[in-house]
Amino acid sequence: MAGQLVGFVGLGVMGRPMARNLLKAGFDLMVHDLNTAAVGEAVAAGARDGKSLEGVAEAGIVVTMLPDTPDVEAVLLGPGGLAEAMRRGSVLVDMSTISPIATRSFAEHLNARGVPMLDAPVSGGFQGAEAGTLSIMVGGEAEVLERCRPVLAAMGTTISHIGEAGAGQVCKACNQVAVAINIHAVAEAMTLAKKNGVDPARIRQALLGGFAQSKALDLHGQRVLDGNYKAGFRVQLQRKDLKIALEAGTASGTPLPVTALIQQLYGILDATGRGELDNSSLALLMQELAGITAEA
Ligand code: NAD
Repeated sequence: MAGQLVGFVGLGVMGRPMARNLLKAGFDLMVHDLNTAAVGEAVAAGARDGKSLEGVAEAGIVVTMLPDTPDVEAVLLGPGGLAEAMRRGSVLVDMSTISPIATRSFAEHLNARGVPMLDAPVSGGFQGAEAGTLSIMVGGEAEVLERCRPVLAAMGTTISHIGEAGAGQVCKACNQVAVAINIHAVAEAMTLAKKNGVDPARIRQALLGGFAQSKALDLHGQRVLDGNYKAGFRVQLQRKDLKIALEAGTASGTPLPVTALIQQLYGILDATGRGELDNSSLALLMQELAGITAEA
């Protein structure tokens, strides 16, 4: 597969290291981004500048890693978009976190033009993208996944085929619901510890040995102890991901009351100028509500 031409659109926080890993694996990479500096950096690392979506569409497999549903819609279905430009038989792999409902309609649209689509959102953050150890949740045809597996394997270590078109995005929405509720649980527990004058470090340590043990308690609990809310995974993205989960909940008749509450709390953080902080900053908000003003 080395030397195979792969297209890549969206060289942001995640896309930049993912593209670098594709180059390291030996793929011939054609990139595009609205940010010319990001394109320049990828070209310096060995990629070719596709110059436009049409340029990138030359590739047999095109990966998109864009912020939100409207961005993917513009890149796929907008004027000069990939749906028009890609050849029949080539594959679109969208690795952005977007709406599963919109994803199903994008997949139908592309399929009708002879271009199969995989939805392949990721978990593992910037560190996972850098290390090439992302967990990739895939929706779409199994045979199409097999054709794209070497490309995905250059970026991630766990590749899970979840089901039909949109199933990868449903999986990611479930992931974000479970993660956010867990992060909020840690925020409340650490706030209760501080407000009761008990050393939160000892409480975190004790809880890590029991049923409350979790990655959120380990990593985000440590962030609370350090007062370190530098992103990480931004509040704005977590808020967007929970909005996607709530829309999928509404469309499928699934009540998600706690997710709705936490999405509002992330909205408060964003509205008060903290949208760029790490998603663990729910703990800051809970401490404020408890009247804890200084970071203890
Ligand atoms: P980002 O905002 O850093 O990067 C997005 C890139 O897309 C930018 O470089 C932007 O210029 C480019 N772009 C936007 N519209 C474009 C267009 N029309 N044409 C060409 N380029 C365009 O976002 P990110 O943090 O890399 O996240 C990308 C996706 O991955 C999001 O859906 C996010 O939710 C998801 N994700 C992010 C993380 C994380 O830790 N940041 C983790 C897991 C999943």
